[in-house]
Amino acid sequence: MNVTSQELHDKLKTFFGWDAFKGNQEDIIKHLIEGGDAFVLMPTGGGKSLCYQLPALCLPGTAIVISPLIALMKNQVDAIRGFIQNKEGIAHFLNSSLNKTQIAEVKADLLSGVTKLLYVAPESLTKEENIQLLKQLHISFYAIDEAHCISEWGHDFRPEYRRIREIIAQIGKAPIIALTATATPKVQSDIQKNLGMLDARVFKSSFNRENLYYEIRDKSNPKREIIRFIKDNPGKSGIIYCLSRKKVEEIAQLLNVNGIKALPYHAGMDAATRAHNQDAFLMEEVDVIVATIAFGMGIDKPDVRFVIHYDIPKSLEGYYQETGRAGRDGQEGQCIAFYSYKDILRLEKFMQGKPISEQEIGKQLLMETVSYAESNQCRRKILLNYFGEDYPEANCGMCDNCLYPKKQFNGQEEMCTVIELILSLKEAFKADHLANILAGENNSIIKSYNHHRHELFGIGRDRGVRFWSAVIRQGLILHLLDKDIERYGLIFVTPEGRAFYEKPYELLLTEDREFVDGEDDDDDEMPIGAGKHSVNAGGGGDQQLLAMLKDVRKDLSRKMNLPAWVIFSDPSLEDMSIQYPVTVAELKNCQGVGEGKARKYGQPFVDLIAKYVEENDVIRPDDFVVKSVVNRSANKVYIIQSIDRKLPFEDIARTKDMDFEELLTEIESIVGAGTRLNIDYYIRQTIDDDKANDIYDYFRDEADSDSVINALKELGGDYTEEEVRLVRIKFLSEVGN
Ligand code: ADP
Ligand code: ZN
Repeated sequence: MNVTSQELHDKLKTFFGWDAFKGNQEDIIKHLIEGGDAFVLMPTGGGKSLCYQLPALCLPGTAIVISPLIALMKNQVDAIRGFIQNKEGIAHFLNSSLNKTQIAEVKADLLSGVTKLLYVAPESLTKEENIQLLKQLHISFYAIDEAHCISEWGHDFRPEYRRIREIIAQIGKAPIIALTATATPKVQSDIQKNLGMLDARVFKSSFNRENLYYEIRDKSNPKREIIRFIKDNPGKSGIIYCLSRKKVEEIAQLLNVNGIKALPYHAGMDAATRAHNQDAFLMEEVDVIVATIAFGMGIDKPDVRFVIHYDIPKSLEGYYQETGRAGRDGQEGQCIAFYSYKDILRLEKFMQGKPISEQEIGKQLLMETVSYAESNQCRRKILLNYFGEDYPEANCGMCDNCLYPKKQFNGQEEMCTVIELILSLKEAFKADHLANILAGENNSIIKSYNHHRHELFGIGRDRGVRFWSAVIRQGLILHLLDKDIERYGLIFVTPEGRAFYEKPYELLLTEDREFVDGEDDDDDEMPIGAGKHSVNAGGGGDQQLLAMLKDVRKDLSRKMNLPAWVIFSDPSLEDMSIQYPVTVAELKNCQGVGEGKARKYGQPFVDLIAKYVEENDVIRPDDFVVKSVVNRSANKVYIIQSIDRKLPFEDIARTKDMDFEELLTEIESIVGAGTRLNIDYYIRQTIDDDKANDIYDYFRDEADSDSVINALKELGGDYTEEEVRLVRIKFLSEVGN
């Protein structure tokens, strides 16, 4: 059938009330109406649905729309019925949620020819009785929504999707339109091959979402940073994604306790609660929804202002899809993801039960996420490159790496080395293998190829695997290298790369970022020491203020003749540089501070902060206190009372159902917060006097931090960790409090 542009615009206006097409909608619609196959790659919010809805209304017969999600279908059908008044039968869906009467109604409408659009779930499509029914219809075309579900290399593989082609052949041939919001070149080729539509016209919109800001943060104190972020962005709508249901519940609760209106959403909740929570978010009764990735498919809330990934997603496609839900109206959309390599290891572990081939794919997708997170390159550039698109600007101005650029180096020689290696290995290896060779990693795979004898093996040992991975990744972005999508992503050298190799020129590259492996985020209340906490390097706090606070601490420690760390620990100072407490009362809310210490040492600190806040016009996060969900104070009171009564620690632990280590940690946190405890009775019973004195002297005279590990090292072999911790408690209690 032929249509003019005028006719299409008229239909658009009559049916949908819009005056203009978005992006390349018109070309796509025209192509489909004229009987061509179409493959549509369009980012979320681009307006994919219209590409099949309008043609369905124009063409004779019924269009079959295959869509993976039942909930999504109902929304879509409601939406189309909303546009076209008084014609209920114009759109229907067929899935497992319908009862017999409803099914009969759908059938009647289909057979009488009033239905222009029929949404079908893939598992319903494969049912014999449905095939028989559809065979009797005149099909205008097939639309395959979320077409990436066909590919194992997509982020949402669904095996039933692979049978679509054979079912279509049974029902009857008609043009096909496949649509997806995310497809890497590999996924795209899978889709086209699987649907037998290699000749389809491909309509690819740019995947660049100019209004989205991308940032990756160290996951050292994610809860605190999230609460702070939300408090700094009051009244804005946002989604927080977590990987597990448990985390979803926990974070939602944590936000509530901290005065933020938030609700959880995950597949383990009953349908009614889920629907309720989703509506509450859409209707803006709550600001934040904390969800697993089950949330968001087909949700059209245009003004989501931020998407936070509490856990790093399993693939870049998933990440892109989820971040895509921010700023659909073209306005502000901040996308922040927390990253720690520990999470990656955890994800790998989850995969272990799966079939090997699936694990392989999963790992490779995960590694792409790692490179993205650790890279110092423009995030937009990497993302778009991943979807086979170039981003020409040098600096996007809208990602953390562009706003805070890292030093670059001339990587001319390094790139030549990489290319030399690839060519010498006949372009038959993947990126990680190449990086391993150059870094001299002598693993079993390398050995199996005898590559530990290769002349370039270990040539860049001093730079490490990460460095070489970064060089290769940038080679890909610069088109000197490319991935062979048909052959498992083997790296080959492009003509451009060969030209560079023949006649090298200066090439500016960046090294990857180093991430601090964060404290396991599950304890907000950091005990003093156990010697293991790493300070969030260059993270959330105000670095200038932090430096000034450290000076104050140094002064005070000289004046009082106390080790600096006894006054306030580093995490405490850092927290002050985040929270800006200006009174002693506020100071108590900082990590590891507590009543006693605040009163004893706090004044000069809060004076400094008050002055700093005043001079620099700092906007303080109002009433910013991270309250922890678990109420531990009952335990604390019990412990303090029991120690007053000189009860053996073992008994206290038993009564409170803790192990000894947990009890020590709890006591450390009590003392660290400034409460004085006299545990001499217990030390006398359990530690030899001389030893106890040695440990005590060490902390008083030598130690420059509260680290137990350092103490054990310095003191030599005769002391146990428990002994050191006990004496440290005594010491801190006596001199600090
Ligand atoms: P996608 O499925 O690609 O994420 P949708 O089909 O949900 O996108 O469309 C995104 C939004 O754009 C929807 O709110 C839709 O109503 C709107 N939209 C689509 N096409 C047009 C158009 N031509 N003019 C105005 N709004 C449109
Ligand atoms: Zn950028």
